[in-house]
This record gives sequence, structure tokens and C-alpha cells, in this order.
Amino acid sequence: DALSNKIAAGEVVERPASVVKELVENAIDAGASIIDIEIEEAGLSKIRISDNGDGIEEKDVPMAFKRHATSKIKNEHDLFRIRTLGFRGEALPSIASVSKLELITSTGNEGTRIVLEGGKVTALEKAAARKGTDLTITDLFYNTPARLKYMKTVHTELGNITDVTNRLALAHPDVSIRLIHNERKLLHTTGNGDVRQVLAAIYGMNIAKKMIPLHVTSLDFVIDGYIALPEITRASRNYISTMINGRFIKNYPLVRAIQEGYHTLLPIGRFPIVLLNITMDPILVDVNVHPSKLEVRISKEQELNELITNSIKEAFKTKEL
Ligand code: ADP
Ligand code: MG
Repeated sequence: DALSNKIAAGEVVERPASVVKELVENAIDAGASIIDIEIEEAGLSKIRISDNGDGIEEKDVPMAFKRHATSKIKNEHDLFRIRTLGFRGEALPSIASVSKLELITSTGNEGTRIVLEGGKVTALEKAAARKGTDLTITDLFYNTPARLKYMKTVHTELGNITDVTNRLALAHPDVSIRLIHNERKLLHTTGNGDVRQVLAAIYGMNIAKKMIPLHVTSLDFVIDGYIALPEITRASRNYISTMINGRFIKNYPLVRAIQEGYHTLLPIGRFPIVLLNITMDPILVDVNVHPSKLEVRISKEQELNELITNSIKEAFKTKEL
């Protein structure tokens, strides 16, 4: 119902960047190869995301805005083997409940348009559309003044949006992602699958060139990534990006394990630029810890962390020889 959607919105859509994250993840889950993000006023006045994914069938469009209606998992068995980025069926109803939202979508046949205001459907009709989904959110948090007041400056909110977008681009080099803020292009990846090109688009070619590929496998894990030479340091941990099965995650022990790999190579208070994409059997990782799906619990965490630390150490050792 309307109230529980608004309560869930508090957890799922904390800020404009969370909206961007959820919607881009939906586009990726829909198999999109091109995703366009257009933002105005750091997302508070407008967020528009269009994709060329599978689209939504006319009869399923109203369903997508019902709480816990997900097309991605069907039973408890699936919940422990999550291969999609979404699975909670909370994002669309939550976002719709705190904004004005228009969605135009098509699976290739005739399209559908739905408009919601504060979670209430105000229009639902057939519409001309190409295959894919086009979502426009205006006046985010217009009906939750307390939340709106809590928003930081445009600069900070935009920083969060670029952060989220960069990480999604890094996790999905095979998807072309474009981010435009107030008509200024902030990111545009080719979608050709080359991670180094995404690194170059985000950090610049000079740094991308100084990142070495890392590839390690064990019985349970495959680690693929890029690690910057120790001579390149940053004042914040923010340049360490970790993904599990294509999902950007926050896990402090993992970050520690990465830093440990650089052990004495970095000055105190300086951090490396690292991108690790870890692949494991979904049964080994629980992503259903928090509505934001950022936190995870990993079985065999210790084993994973040691593998990471050792392989980074090893990479720089062989580099010296
Ligand atoms: P979840 O992603 O957890 O399933 P959401 O609330 O984010 O839940 O989305 C609800 C449903 O709407 C999805 O399960 C999916 O079927 C559909 N959907 C949302 N966004 C898109 C999109 N961009 N393309 C195709 N289908 C979408
Ligand atoms: Mg989703």
C-alpha cells in the first residue's frame, strides 16, 4: 500500500543517486546494451533513464509498481541463487511514491505509457514506443519535505550520482552508459567490453595505462580486475571498487584485504586505485542483507580475502623481477 511504499522509499531511495542506481540496474537486468541517463539539478528536478532492453509487456506495467512484484525471482530457491541485480521488487513502487514518474515501454510491439504521482496512477494507455524502456522522474521527494531538506548541495548529490554511474559502468563494460547533467556529458562508455577503456573514461588514459590486469582463480572464486601501480595513490578509499557477480558492493574486509596486498608499498593515509570483479557461485553470497543491496555476506570470506591479498602482493613481486 501507499504507506509501506513510502516507508520502503526511505531505505531504497535515500538520495537521487539511489534512484539512478536502481533504474540503471533494472535496465541492465532487462538486457540493455545502451543506457542513457539525463539529469537536471543533481536529479532533484529530473532524472531520465532510457534503455534498449526487453521492455515490459502491457499487462505487466501496473504490476511493476506493486510492492514485492518482481519478475526476477519466483521462489525461495531463486532467492539464494540471485543472478540479477534486482530481486526485491521495491525500487519502482518506492521511487514512484516519492516523485512524479512517467514510464514508456515496449517489448517490440505496441508500447505502454503509465504516469504516477506520489505513487498514484494518473494515466495508463497505449503509446508509440521503440523497444526498451524510458523512465522520467521529476520532482523527486516533492511530497517528503523532510527528505528533501536533508539533501546536500547539488555538488555533493551529483558526486554521488557520478560515483554510482562510474561503478555501474566498471561492472558492465559491455553496456554503453552515458551520463549527462544539465546538458554536460560526464561519462560515455563504448560498451565494447573493454574494462580498460571504461577505466580511461573515468580516471583518464594516463592512469588507466598504469593499471595492471589481475586474474586469479581458486576452487570457489574467480577474481578479475585492474590494480594501479603503487606509485599512483589517492587520499581516499573511494577509488577502490569491488563487485561480486557484477554487483557493486560495499564490504570493508574486502577493502582491507586489498590494502593489505599493497602493504608497505603505500604511504600511510594513501590508498590505491583498484577494481576487482569477483565471480562466485551465488549460493556463496547473501545480497539480501539490506534494501540497498550494497552490503553482502560472503561464505568463505577469509579464504577470499587471503586470495586477494596474496595475489596483489604476487602481482607486484613479479613486476619487480
Ligand atoms: P526488481 O528489480 O527488484 O525486480 P523493481 O521495482 O526495480 O524490482 O522493478 C519491478 C519490475 O519491473 C522488474 O522485476 C521488471 O520486471 C520490471 N522492470 C523495471 N524496470 C525495467 C526496465 N528498465 N526494463 C524492463 N523491465 C523493467
Ligand atoms: Mg530493480
